[in-house]
Amino acid sequence: MNFSEVQNIWDCSKEEWNDWQWQLENSITSVQELEDKFSISDSEAQKIKKAADVFPMSITPYYASLIDFDDDTCPIKQQAIPQSDELKNNNYEMDDPLHEDKDSPVDGLTHRYPDRVLLLVTNKCSMFCRHCTRKRKVGDDEGTVNLEQIKQGIEYIKETPQVRDVLLSGGDPLLIDREILRKIIVELYKIPHVEVVRVGSRLPVVLPQGITDGLVDMLSEITEEHGPVWINTHFNHKKEITAESKEALNKLANAGIPLGNQTVLLRDVNDCPEIIKDLMHQLVQNRVRPYYLYQCDLSRGIEHFRTPIAKGIEVMEHLIGHTSGFSVPRYVVDAPGGGGKIPVSPNYLLSNSNRKTILRNFEGTITVYTEPENQTSNCPPNCNICDNPFVEEEEQNDIGLQKLFSEDNDKISLQSSEREYGNYDS
Ligand SMILES: *Cc1c(COP(=O)(O)O)cnc(C)c1O
Ligand code: SF4
Repeated sequence: MNFSEVQNIWDCSKEEWNDWQWQLENSITSVQELEDKFSISDSEAQKIKKAADVFPMSITPYYASLIDFDDDTCPIKQQAIPQSDELKNNNYEMDDPLHEDKDSPVDGLTHRYPDRVLLLVTNKCSMFCRHCTRKRKVGDDEGTVNLEQIKQGIEYIKETPQVRDVLLSGGDPLLIDREILRKIIVELYKIPHVEVVRVGSRLPVVLPQGITDGLVDMLSEITEEHGPVWINTHFNHKKEITAESKEALNKLANAGIPLGNQTVLLRDVNDCPEIIKDLMHQLVQNRVRPYYLYQCDLSRGIEHFRTPIAKGIEVMEHLIGHTSGFSVPRYVVDAPGGGGKIPVSPNYLLSNSNRKTILRNFEGTITVYTEPENQTSNCPPNCNICDNPFVEEEEQNDIGLQKLFSEDNDKISLQSSEREYGNYDS
């Protein structure tokens, strides 16, 4: 849509259009507004309304302007406009498939991995993605920013010295009051063991106007005075890479903010190796490092977006070796029930004996790697990292499969009840 088409629909000035607060105030949240602005048939409007009554709709004017309403397969449309498929209920779909609530030692904080936590700072999003895994929470306005809860989360991190990496998520952390956001990050960096703070945000995709000079200045100031702020965003299709989103990414990259991207594999939106490869190439051209390719979760209302895992493997098969290593994300399945992200990949190791390992490459060439005669490979001499007297006894404990590998451990099997992280409610 060019700007005169935009003006025809929204009757706004260029300044208003580029003002993210104006974008938020004018977000489309009712089917009536959609019908007023775009040509939508009555039957389609009815279907949208039914789905939006259950899972609310909110679309920024900017993101709406990218929709091709005449094309039901438009990747932007599918991510933004409610569909009746969302109402199909399947009993294996869950409200909290990743046990983010269950794995919470305090409300709003998930501690599932040894050295990092997820801290939810808001439920607010500028666009409600139809495929959102946190559909149960997004747009439920009772808990927009709950400062008391965030304080409790920070307190937990203070008391938990193994946490060195804090991931701010939501909702969209870049939507909360920016002075509050600054204070949260600065508070986190006051904790001696916090080394990295990351922010997950979809603003560069759905509201790039929100990457203001003020925000960028604030982030580079925090970086200089306290520590790095990594940003992970969420592009799913090349169509989302517009002049506006490029500008937002460019501003962040120029300020030295490391950028990553998490894509969700979505049926009929991007479930094709070429579409994903194209997107990955666009991202690296804009200094964004592809981080994860997610298998779609088992959340309620998103069954129609799910592909078989085989599709993800096929996509990875077309990326690994075929394009630059830094254009290849890691494909992960977030384990239902809260097991965390599990990397899945095509197999490159075909077989092995104690003398030889047989591998195949991306083209299907099969090669043999001859193993060294001396097969013992112990610690390098004079390394004392693991019996360092400054490391607490408890931290030396083996986790997961390490228990089976360990020489000091006589375990021969692992029980799921021995999970170290999560299950705070038991
Ligand atoms: C994804 C995730 C993290 C961050 O993990 P990385 O794989 O290191 O990016 C931390 N906590 C939770 C609960 C997560 O889901
Ligand atoms: S931006 Fe993220 S949290 Fe918000 S609706 Fe989209 S997928 Fe969900």
